[in-house]
Amino acid sequence: MTCRWPRTCRWWWAICSPGCCRSGAMSSSQLSLDGHKLIYHPDRLADFLAGRDIRPLYAEISPNGHCNHRCLFCNFNYLGHKSFFPEGRMPELVKELAAAGVKGIVFAGAGEPTLHKDTFAAVHAAKEAGADVAMSTNGAMLTPEQINAMAEELTWVRFSISGGTPESYARVHRGRPGDFEKVLSNIARLREVRDRISSPITIGSQCVLLPENHEDIPALAATLKQRGAHYFVIKHFYPHNKNEYAPDMSFLTDEYLAGLQEMADSLTTDDFACILRSKDTLQRNRPYTQCHGLPFILYVREDGSLYSCFSHQDDPNTVLGDVGSTSFEDVWNADRKQQAFDYINNTIDKSQCQSNCRHNQINLWLDKLTPPPAHVNFI
Ligand code: SF4
Repeated sequence: MTCRWPRTCRWWWAICSPGCCRSGAMSSSQLSLDGHKLIYHPDRLADFLAGRDIRPLYAEISPNGHCNHRCLFCNFNYLGHKSFFPEGRMPELVKELAAAGVKGIVFAGAGEPTLHKDTFAAVHAAKEAGADVAMSTNGAMLTPEQINAMAEELTWVRFSISGGTPESYARVHRGRPGDFEKVLSNIARLREVRDRISSPITIGSQCVLLPENHEDIPALAATLKQRGAHYFVIKHFYPHNKNEYAPDMSFLTDEYLAGLQEMADSLTTDDFACILRSKDTLQRNRPYTQCHGLPFILYVREDGSLYSCFSHQDDPNTVLGDVGSTSFEDVWNADRKQQAFDYINNTIDKSQCQSNCRHNQINLWLDKLTPPPAHVNFI
């Protein structure tokens, strides 16, 4: 269902009779997974076009590198899953980020974010400071209190679940026996709390398509729909050249993908979207040499380092500063930030970067806007 009042229902959702936003259902185009939303922030875009200092819009925080799983596909495996963000600092940091203009904060990163004891305090602090907050989790360690807090404070949560049976789930996630059923129960519990308290949270789920799980993706999609997820995204695997896992993807034929698309379409209803990501996201060639999107997006690593680019964390030249021990403003206003941006723009060979990195869609769009064409007032 498409809302006829997408701007006003934010304020009127409690009494709106169609109640589409309360349903939490999201179509593929509403989620904009293969696009970006920078166009909805014209003030920052104006700063970009005028060459002014740009305040970041989005931050992803990695509370810890530690994880209760060891997923085969995890892009951060090469970093070794170590460290916790300095205790007590995250709730302060999110306030600094919101004050600096960050509007969306996602708790995710290299490990399982719910393992850090400050994560939910930071969620609350971010929300109180005016940011929209979300989380990506494997969902296997959630407590009932955490599920309640999610329903109360998060705009969305995305469960990472890459197996459709206990066996294939264990092959990919490499967690503890019983985790598959725990995650499904936690999704169902969150949906029950959400509906009971009329929370607007969108409950998402996502799998990475691999040889180890590709046969039971239809069963997984049907199960997630039945347990109360609002959407399920089937994502392609992006290799990282520092990781060892290099699966044989020969199963990914046009015929297989057509069957998967048919399955996704047949499961999609007003209450549930099953979305197969485009194979185009596997493309590595980039028409741009400059990452124009760097100042809009932040990544806070569990050791306190601040980045923009997620993919080159093993290169110390890409670190903007240390927000574990220094205020965000001090880091953002220091020379090192610009030095890191210059290094990324001038030294890193973008043709070797991970396919469809976090910045790619924004980079593609901004690259078309700059330099501007002649006679821009003749629209
Ligand atoms: S294009 Fe490469 S350098 Fe730029 S943000 Fe993406 S991964 Fe990082």
